[in-house]
Amino acid sequence: MTCLPLSGFATRAIHAGYDAAAHDGALVPPLHLSSTFVFESAEAGAEIFAGEREGYFYSRIANPTVDLLEQRMAALEGAEAAVATASGMGAIAGVLWSFLQPGDEIIVDKTLYGCTFAFMRHGLARFGIRITHADLTDPANLSAAISKTTKIVYFETPANPNMRLVDIAAVAAIARRHGARTIVDNTYATPVLTQPITLGADIVVHSATKYLGGHGDLVGGIALGTAADMQQVRLVGIKDMTGAVMAPFNAMLVLRGLKTLKLRMAEHCRSAVAVAAALDAHQAVAAVHYPGLAGFAQHDLARRQMPGFGGMIAFELTGGYAAGVAMMNRLNLVQRAVSLGDAESLIQHPASMTHSTYTTEERREHGISDGLVRLSVGLEEVDEITADLMQALDAVTAARVSVDA
Ligand code: PLP
Repeated sequence: MTCLPLSGFATRAIHAGYDAAAHDGALVPPLHLSSTFVFESAEAGAEIFAGEREGYFYSRIANPTVDLLEQRMAALEGAEAAVATASGMGAIAGVLWSFLQPGDEIIVDKTLYGCTFAFMRHGLARFGIRITHADLTDPANLSAAISKTTKIVYFETPANPNMRLVDIAAVAAIARRHGARTIVDNTYATPVLTQPITLGADIVVHSATKYLGGHGDLVGGIALGTAADMQQVRLVGIKDMTGAVMAPFNAMLVLRGLKTLKLRMAEHCRSAVAVAAALDAHQAVAAVHYPGLAGFAQHDLARRQMPGFGGMIAFELTGGYAAGVAMMNRLNLVQRAVSLGDAESLIQHPASMTHSTYTTEERREHGISDGLVRLSVGLEEVDEITADLMQALDAVTAARVSVDA
């Protein structure tokens, strides 16, 4: 029972890639901490190094525990292969360094996680790579911007932090016609809600720190795509350029997280729908950005592309930033912390935290309002999450906290 190609998502998340009989009957895969692997002879070592014989030799290149996670994630994303990395940023940097040369252009959506934006704007751009921002919520903007030098089209959907969606199939089709690779950051949706490769994307990246791990106890990432592309990422972007390899212990934690991913996502989605509706109905709230709300600008695309609307919500208060700060300080259950996708509900302020890598002007230009608050709806009782938010909003309303306060 190794690959289970015809089995359903939850079964693959628990079994894919593992054969207990090959590991002394151990139900749970062993953790291989070894950094290096012994060659049976000098000749065998040389053959493994030359790629003429299969075998592990050093855990910066491959490790059996990490390898199992890579196989399992590939089975969930519909990819041929995967490379697990030290962090989500490790996956993003490892992939982009693998495929870009000075003089190339990368077209990226206007809304990106703050460190991804910084890596492109302040990292890649220093090495002669042209970064073009386009509003990919309308695929026509990609058709207008793409050129012969465009090698990569990159976006998040839903995007961090403002939840804008990109039509993966439409954008990937345009990129493909122009010979560019489409790379999707699938951290927010997870393969439970979207499998970008099955919609035409070439590469998927994740921060495994979030929903994949799911318990807030690791930092990790993963890239997925064709076997040829992932070989290049492993040997160029990770082995030689960044060294951002995932530790075996973290791979074990992500494997454990994956076993409940489908269950957890169902609950995150169910709860977020209820929380978004409650926020939307509160007088202190000016706008709620959640794909599941009928009033969300891209609700139709969300219904077409995502079987559930996810656990992330962004919202703005009528009292602006001051009201957002006052509200966060009144919360008792919801924790003030960055990151997302954990069992605990987490709230943070993108402009001063995750997206402070943008200047104020850049945030304005890229549609990230300073009053935006980002909420990761956790797995606590939904009525208790909602009650905590409502009492904090009521207190802000009573105190009349506003931008002028
Ligand atoms: N991509 C998205 C959408 C994120 O939200 C994050 C982190 O918050 C990352 C990538 C980076 O992941 P990591 O923190 O694991 O490096």
